Amino acid sequence: MTARHLPEHSPAEPRWREVAAATGLLAGDGTVRATIFAEMSALATRTGAVNLGQGFPDVDGPASVLAAAAHALASGANQYPPGPGIPELRAAVAAHQARHYGLDVDADTEVLVTAGATEAIAAAVLALAGPGDEVLTLEPFYDSYAAVIAMAGARHTTAPLVATSDGFRLDLDALESAFTDRTRVVLVNTPHNPTGAVLTRSELEAIARLAVRHDAVVVTDEVYEHLTLARADGSRPEHVPVATLPGMAGRTLTISSAGKTFSFTGWKVGWVTGPAELVVAVRTVKQFLTYVSAAPLQPAVAFALTDPGVAAWVDELAASLAERRDLLCAGLADAGFAVARPDGTYFVLADAAPLGFADGAELCHALPGLAGVVGVPVSAFTRPGSDVDGALRSWVRFTFVKREDVLVEAVDRLHAWAARR
Ligand SMILES: *Cc1c(COP(=O)(O)O)cnc(C)c1O
Repeated sequence: MTARHLPEHSPAEPRWREVAAATGLLAGDGTVRATIFAEMSALATRTGAVNLGQGFPDVDGPASVLAAAAHALASGANQYPPGPGIPELRAAVAAHQARHYGLDVDADTEVLVTAGATEAIAAAVLALAGPGDEVLTLEPFYDSYAAVIAMAGARHTTAPLVATSDGFRLDLDALESAFTDRTRVVLVNTPHNPTGAVLTRSELEAIARLAVRHDAVVVTDEVYEHLTLARADGSRPEHVPVATLPGMAGRTLTISSAGKTFSFTGWKVGWVTGPAELVVAVRTVKQFLTYVSAAPLQPAVAFALTDPGVAAWVDELAASLAERRDLLCAGLADAGFAVARPDGTYFVLADAAPLGFADGAELCHALPGLAGVVGVPVSAFTRPGSDVDGALRSWVRFTFVKREDVLVEAVDRLHAWAARR
């Protein structure tokens, strides 16, 4: 497989249309469609189907973190905080990187607090890439990547993840041929949404080697860093930040956020760490996107990152997600899907081809009526017409970050559907 390139930016098109086109939302008649996530959630509401589409928890994070936020609100943390983030949160992020990964990060010059990981990704891409540059991502990819690369006017190139008996794995030959001397940024997501792959050290070393060879900056989206899921033998896949690989700390921006780790996806507090000159570049853009992010939530996230009780809560979340993954995977397999077991995140990809469905989007529209369950087609995470888009046409993403009783209901409905067929 070789990487495919989108056409160059055409200056006659307003940028928002480029964004709509890059995300597959520009309809043939020139109108802009709602995202498939909004469409599927509306369908779930309308039909009473169990919504395993959009990935957000149906239970909030730790009460102690909520109390810290409430305390900060009540005690006056309500005006503009410092642009780079409050010192306590920057120190907590630096301490987190040291404790978990042995990374030495300076809290004053090498940490920037952002409005979620989404803003950190956007600011990094806008800061580092423009017309004539290429930004390389894995494919499938988180949907905001294509949009922000289009906003930057850069070209989006991809390296495919392919379904194997060991889950989704990086195609190393295709990775190598996707790199060019115009590759300015490599945007890597591990643990990976939507495939649930946790990239191995050797896959990441291959990315690192090529990034060095082509003098590209690596930007890593590690929002699921703590949500690696135990395998059947009890071992837990290792999350490897690219910044920890030899020689990579100087060219890597590491991004994470509070949303997934602490089950507060609505808080939108994220951060980026890396060498001071790259963090300055991101900050220069970020300060004119949002200037600062939510003042009273920053002390609460600093508390969440440092409190041992919260760390234990996160471990329990990962353990319970492994059980919920097993429950949903068994239910999907029982219903006839071919399932790629995820090692991380809270998503599973399932192939509907064995059920006789060649098109995941068609199945997702029909599934509420057939089985009373909602998923999202993997085509929401691919470039229209790409090789990966073709290869994963019949695949659907389901989330298991829902209460166990909700998942049991979904599995029962899938079972009943299978029995009727
Ligand atoms: C949810 C998600 C994000 C967004 O994180 P926020 O902190 O909510 O902005 C970014 N990347 C991936 C892969 C995600 O799944």
